[in-house]
Amino acid sequence: MKVMAEYIWMDGHLPTQKLRSKTKILNKKVSSASELPDWGFDGSSTNQAEGNFSDCLLKPVWICKDPIRGHDNILVMCEVMNSDGSVHSSNTRAHLRLIADKFSKEEAWFGIEQEYTFFEGRNPLGWPEGGYPAPQGPFYCGVGADEVFGREIVEDHLDLCLEAGLELSGINAEVMPGQWEYQVGPLGPLEVADQMWISRWLLYRVSEDYGVSATLHPKPVKGDWNGAGAHINFSTKKMREKGGIKVIENACEKLSKKHDEHIALYGAHNEQRLTGNHETCSIREFRYGVSDRGASIRIPMQTANDGYGYLEDRRPSANMDPYQACAILIETTCR
Ligand code: ADP
Ligand code: MN
Ligand code: MN
Ligand code: MN
Repeated sequence: MKVMAEYIWMDGHLPTQKLRSKTKILNKKVSSASELPDWGFDGSSTNQAEGNFSDCLLKPVWICKDPIRGHDNILVMCEVMNSDGSVHSSNTRAHLRLIADKFSKEEAWFGIEQEYTFFEGRNPLGWPEGGYPAPQGPFYCGVGADEVFGREIVEDHLDLCLEAGLELSGINAEVMPGQWEYQVGPLGPLEVADQMWISRWLLYRVSEDYGVSATLHPKPVKGDWNGAGAHINFSTKKMREKGGIKVIENACEKLSKKHDEHIALYGAHNEQRLTGNHETCSIREFRYGVSDRGASIRIPMQTANDGYGYLEDRRPSANMDPYQACAILIETTCR
């Protein structure tokens, strides 16, 4: 019985790394990443090596069921290594591994809201050819063929993620027509980031079948249209315990001193999205507040009322790398 293992990795594309994958045929069923062989690829075709020394190594680190191929087939998240086994410069997971380990006692949880936009050719899905739909207003969480576009893909993607065993916590239609969101978590740092990358791969993959592409660009349409973000809801054990609100406020103060360092890791072209309009805070400012969707960090109403809970970092853009974003959140707030 042959098993298909889809090895998935992040390439060296700049300024935003993209996903690549290829299929390895195995002779037996596997149940953990450690049973899988390392593999190689041509790094000169992925912006990860020069042509004259092009072999990079794929090291399997996380697996789940392949819900598209079914049976015993699997999806395999990989770290990219140099041919001598050292960490490749494009491998952002390796750093999160160290940070997650170093601060494991904090028991950090992450819930990430992944927004994205469907495109059909050059137009957002459902938009009139060369024109614009009605102004924003009715589309967020809307229903009806004139309000939401691409629901069949969204539902398929949700089914696939759940079948793969990913920890999705919800989906919704977004403010701009053709734009959607799903949430992953709450999970620990490596788990949420691995699952986020696999869920993105599934999104691109299932959209192929519909002849539609999903983009994570933070501002897919210029002008008076919402951008696409990836809010990170974050808590540590102390934040979740009685009196945790003090820990949350203290974390916000620490975050205020590292705004630029965070923005640098929160996705390319984010300045097009963080304008101060469309439920964002300007990229040049840092503010936090209870229930404030115009702030950099929102403390949810429930958290303020209970006196413990979590914070929402609203700055990360849809195309951020969750390995880097989760790492710096822990580093800044737990140090
Ligand atoms: P919003 O109101 O901003 O749209 P969502 O419901 O889309 O919020 O997303 C909230 C996310 O926060 C979910 O993924 C949820 O699992 C996550 N979450 C809930 N509690 C915590 C917590 N204590 N720590 C981290 N994340 C959490
Ligand atoms: Mn949301
Ligand atoms: Mn949203
Ligand atoms: Mn949010």
